[in-house]
Amino acid sequence: MRRVYMDANATTPLLPEVMEAMRPYWMERFGNASSIHLHGQQARAAVDRARETLAEFFNCHAAEVVFNSGGTEGDNTAICGLLRAGDHFVTTSIEHSAILEAAQRLADKGIETTFVAPLPSGLIDPEEIRRAIRPETRLVSVMLANNETGVLQPIEKIGEITRAGGAFFHIDAVQGAGKVNLDVRRFGCHLCSISAHKMHGPKGIGAMFVRRGTPIEPLLVGGSHERRRRAGTENVPGIVGLAKAAELAMQSLEDGTIPRLAGLRDRLEAGILKIPGTGVNGAAIPQVLGAPSLPSAAADSSGKGGNHQTSTGPVSEEGCNPVPRVANTTNIWFDHLEGEVLVIALDLKGVAVSGGSACHSGATEPSHVLMAMGLDKTRARASLRFSLLRTATEADVDYVLQVVPEAVEHLRALSPVAAGTLG
Ligand code: PLP
Repeated sequence: MRRVYMDANATTPLLPEVMEAMRPYWMERFGNASSIHLHGQQARAAVDRARETLAEFFNCHAAEVVFNSGGTEGDNTAICGLLRAGDHFVTTSIEHSAILEAAQRLADKGIETTFVAPLPSGLIDPEEIRRAIRPETRLVSVMLANNETGVLQPIEKIGEITRAGGAFFHIDAVQGAGKVNLDVRRFGCHLCSISAHKMHGPKGIGAMFVRRGTPIEPLLVGGSHERRRRAGTENVPGIVGLAKAAELAMQSLEDGTIPRLAGLRDRLEAGILKIPGTGVNGAAIPQVLGAPSLPSAAADSSGKGGNHQTSTGPVSEEGCNPVPRVANTTNIWFDHLEGEVLVIALDLKGVAVSGGSACHSGATEPSHVLMAMGLDKTRARASLRFSLLRTATEADVDYVLQVVPEAVEHLRALSPVAAGTLG
């Protein structure tokens, strides 16, 4: 049976070049980067080279790059490393649980959080961030791209507002990295977290941009690694793999990969939308709502500075503006279906996607992101995320477009609601 993996926002496989770059650092170049002898020097040189690559990736100084274990650690470090009792924290209700649960934990320590809700389009209105900031706000944290909808947030504007409010700004760029240009200077942030495994690098390794002078306390102590910002023997193979993945991602932002991917995603989306009772979550801003202008990152078509390669969502109704999204993601609801059941049916046909629900303590809960966008529980549960690998092909899309309509038709035929017997 053919297998098509369309769950890249969950994780991605290593590209062969990444595997090859890492290989010597498991074996003959196994040294500890803190050792003085030759083995240590080889490891240290590899870490230093990787730091230079990451500095290029973030557009920052090498000294501002901190290697860590990935997105969860970066998000936790930003929150737990900056906030103290009495501080106020502003974030959004559509963040990853690494942000949301860290905020919950700090509530017990007297740190209050304001969660800004998105517009129905999935966009955060920067003016809502402005309204949430108070004199005691120390940190604002907003994601670059949402993991479920792919919607890109107007982070430059949010950065401007945050700085004017006198707070620090953290960006969870885990789902944006490798899909749009990162430029922490343009974003105006103090902290920015990324993770290798979302961009064809290894799992358990990531990096954080920490702007010079940002008074962040380390999460882990016990050594002088990473200029005392993150203790622990460096994961040298992981760091080398992350750097290779970042290098390849930078190339793919320039070589036409992203428009190609956006074209595949758009064809997939248009094909699925031919099925009656379907629609895209995070696709359009109704103009009547007086929606904010598009994030400048997506509106800009002038090369490196902008995300011109990022396809926008379809104009689903008359009078709607498309919302900027990363090129590889679409999130689609299917009326009269249980998303989990469709995920299983597609898996049996060799297609891997994710549902709009998450398992919390053994119970399946509808996605907090889709619910925050105003979907009811039924529609949130009836939503699927298709996220394409950078290496996706036309044949992958053809296969998914063959399998999805058949599976939907089959499942709906079994559903009393779809058949109209329950109204
Ligand atoms: N932030 C976002 C937006 C994510 O999508 C994820 C992973 O899904 C994370 C953070 C956590 O990253 P990691 O898996 O590297 O801990």
